[in-house]
Amino acid sequence: MNPIPADLQIDAGWLLRVQPRAPLRAHSVMVIDGIIVDVLPTADVQARYAPKRHADMTGHIVLPGLVNAHCHAAMSLMRGIADDVVLHEWLQAHIWPREAAHVSAAFVFDGSLLAAAEMIRGGITACSDMYFFPDATARALRQSGMRVQLGLPILEFPSAYAPDADGYLQRGLAVRDSLRDDPLISFALAPHATYTVSDTMFARIVTYAEELGLPIQTHLHETAGEVAAGVAAHGCRPLTRLSGLGALGPAFMAIHAVHCNDNDVALLAGHASHVVHCPSSNLKLGSGIAPVSAMLSRGINVALGTDGAASNNRLDLFEEMRIAALLAKGVTQDATTLPAQKAVEMATLGGARALGLEAAIGSLEVGKSADIIAVAVTSPELSPIFDPYSHLVYAAGRADVSHAWVAGDCILDDRQLTYCDLSAILRLAQHWQEKLR
Ligand SMILES: [Zn+2]
Repeated sequence: MNPIPADLQIDAGWLLRVQPRAPLRAHSVMVIDGIIVDVLPTADVQARYAPKRHADMTGHIVLPGLVNAHCHAAMSLMRGIADDVVLHEWLQAHIWPREAAHVSAAFVFDGSLLAAAEMIRGGITACSDMYFFPDATARALRQSGMRVQLGLPILEFPSAYAPDADGYLQRGLAVRDSLRDDPLISFALAPHATYTVSDTMFARIVTYAEELGLPIQTHLHETAGEVAAGVAAHGCRPLTRLSGLGALGPAFMAIHAVHCNDNDVALLAGHASHVVHCPSSNLKLGSGIAPVSAMLSRGINVALGTDGAASNNRLDLFEEMRIAALLAKGVTQDATTLPAQKAVEMATLGGARALGLEAAIGSLEVGKSADIIAVAVTSPELSPIFDPYSHLVYAAGRADVSHAWVAGDCILDDRQLTYCDLSAILRLAQHWQEKLR
């Protein structure tokens, strides 16, 4: 039998498919037209396939690309601009005034280029973003080689992007129309929060989401103050209010979900909704700690997000995996809570499920897109290696990521970004620092 022509062969020292969970040694992933067509022992490849390209990752852990399920990429230009202040003051005194003065399509494009370079170097191949001028975000992330879910932002107050909530909605739908032919872009409706969007607009968003088959994502129950103010204004908790408006369901992403009581967790579980856990942002803004253990035990899909670099201050899912696992154990005083394997699943398949993309990405299975990363594990800091899941969460860091592919296309090659002009990006960051100062 003649060998089958293939585009790419990736040989893995350790292969973590995530689903199924069991790690494989000395296996290879075969890719044709950006799709994984086979996973087989490396020793068997030569007899069956004739690959055009070959990546020797035998000193690496090879796993699905990480999915950053919540980001504001452009805010990387405001990294470190206001730290150590509470969320309310951070937004009202520092972030919103600067956004009002400076945010434009150019700001969003340049900031998203900076964010993409950081994310790709840290093994993030897909992200869900929520910000003004989402078309500019899309252009920057796609130009860098990433996959993106564009959260189309909706707010009740005016900005350079739109004059009112209806303007945001219409502009977002127009962005979707203009970009929907790109297979690496998907969309969500992204009402900013229950305190910035009215019931009337939420009801319209629910109608559009159903008609167009779009997920809904919103910041929810991030602080105790937000929940208390919601109860005072509406007579019920924000999540209950959204449930009454028909927003919950299997295509709903609750971002943060820090202040959730047993009823809230039951409500999310009952609707098969997703939670995006952003532990660094929640800790840094003093918001609290989401009850992740209770959510997982109720069967809720929990993804991981970095939030924006202005409140984190790094777009680093290795950090989020480690903090999520350690926090959950500390809170429950039970070391078996949120094991390393689960943390890796949250950063990959959990993110894919939250974005509604689990048929395409999140695990290394035949038929899925070749969105893959390789983590070098030959350094003294990562030796010896007994369990690759444990290594990724407790020992490795984003600087150990050496390669990344999206749909079989190499976007990080031995730590070199293949589509980004790093020196130009650094000049842009300097330019905006001077303007924002
Ligand atoms: Zn956010």
